[in-house]
Amino acid sequence: MTGHADVVVIGGGQAGLALGYHLRRTGLTFLILDAEDAPGGAWRHAWRSLRLFSPAAWSSLPGWPLNGGETTYPGRDDVVGYLTRYEARYELPVRRPVTVRSVERAGDGVLLARTDRGDWTARMVVSATGTWRHPYVPHYPGREAFRGAQVHSGAYEGPESFAGKRVVVVGGGNSGAQILAELSEVADTTWVSERPPVFLPDEVDGRVLFHRATARIKALQEGRAPEIPAGGLGDIVMVPPMAAARDRGVLHARRPFARFGETGVVWRDGTATGADAVIWCTGFRPALDHLACLDVVGPDGTVAVDGTRSVREPRLWLVGYGGWTGPASATLIGVGRSARETVRRIAAELGAEGGQGVPTPPG
Ligand code: FAD
Repeated sequence: MTGHADVVVIGGGQAGLALGYHLRRTGLTFLILDAEDAPGGAWRHAWRSLRLFSPAAWSSLPGWPLNGGETTYPGRDDVVGYLTRYEARYELPVRRPVTVRSVERAGDGVLLARTDRGDWTARMVVSATGTWRHPYVPHYPGREAFRGAQVHSGAYEGPESFAGKRVVVVGGGNSGAQILAELSEVADTTWVSERPPVFLPDEVDGRVLFHRATARIKALQEGRAPEIPAGGLGDIVMVPPMAAARDRGVLHARRPFARFGETGVVWRDGTATGADAVIWCTGFRPALDHLACLDVVGPDGTVAVDGTRSVREPRLWLVGYGGWTGPASATLIGVGRSARETVRRIAAELGAEGGQGVPTPPG
């Protein structure tokens, strides 16, 4: 048998929860299908010492602030705990672990979400699956021949197993900087970035990145060209461990090497550096494999959207993927704005009048 809900949300990370917060007030029946065994989304898999790049007050989902105010930078476990409590506080209908294998067009105007635990039809589907499941590693000649370890930041847990080793950290964003700062205390590190890393001033943190994103949205809404301040969401926030690493003189990145050798990397000038491991802090791509049947994912791995609504499949919405789904929409504070607007548009389209709807479970 197949269950039915007005809205099915795929993904129970911060984006899915922000959507749930707003959906619960529409009277629409909805549920959130999440592949994880427990709450927290990708935060459950971040490395132990990860710190938010914005203080708690600037890292909250709609309705309920993350503890810590304007002066503390919460860590991974604080965020997982917060998302767990948030889900319970608003009694969000999350079903897990449930993996959505595909979303398909079904008859009589609904979409069909096929999962490993039964199927659901829905009038609207919102994909909030994040990017963590799609780590990105750029091509470097000879990478297959390199005999050292290769770990993506999405799978990095901490510095212990690299102590005393020679480690190349590739990537000039917040992940690369925070992992380099930590590893440089126990290992012989080399940092590589395509462009010189941009460090925000000590007194400036992730909230300025959110202000920039807000200004960008406002300019676009008013038909103005957004000012392009130096840098963007990739600028490095000098959270305390970063400032300490700067004082140790380790925050110097080299431009990319030409290729791998079996025992290290070879620079463009022909010189070589031995390496026991490479940590790829080279980001992620949207996890959208479940949308393949709808033929909406473009060659760049994103979906053409009007706001967060798929242009080619108007019953499909995409929330939380960053830039192309709205400036700062991949951040804790930014996703709230995107979720609110998405739910407002869905409710208007489905003629919702408010209240708490309950989905029809599979028979
Ligand atoms: P996710 O957290 O990835 O959640 C997606 C959920 O969907 C997961 O539970 C997954 O299991 C599930 N899912 C995926 N595919 C399926 C499927 N087919 N069927 C069912 N379920 C599925 N943001 C900030 O605001 N501040 C920060 O300081 C910050 N630091 C970051 C540091 C790093 C290293 C990274 C990678 C990101 C950081 N972010 C930060 C960005 C952002 O907050 C996180 O990426 C966050 O995890 C995004 O939440 P999400 O809900 O969009 O996706």
